[in-house]
Amino acid sequence: MTPSDPPDPLEPYTGPIPDHLRSMFERANELIRQGADVYFKWTCLDPGCGARQTFESKNTFYRLGKCEECKYVTDLWHRDAKVNYLLIWDSRRQGRQP
Ligand SMILES: [Zn+2]
Repeated sequence: MTPSDPPDPLEPYTGPIPDHLRSMFERANELIRQGADVYFKWTCLDPGCGARQTFESKNTFYRLGKCEECKYVTDLWHRDAKVNYLLIWDSRRQGRQP
């Protein structure tokens, strides 16, 4: 961290979804309606990184993803960002199911 770090640009995204991600979002939203929790994932597009990243906030999508490894900010509308979701069923339960 340095004093010149810009403010965090990441805000939850609620606008229109591009065509190549629409079916993925529709599946994720259907699962959320059924009571599942999903965490959206993407791949960092920094040429030297490429780490797979996951947003910390459940059921929340951000247009921009900041990499925890290299701090690069990826535009998730880019096809190479490989946006997908991690599905967590019924996370309110404390116990694990077999
Ligand atoms: Zn990265």
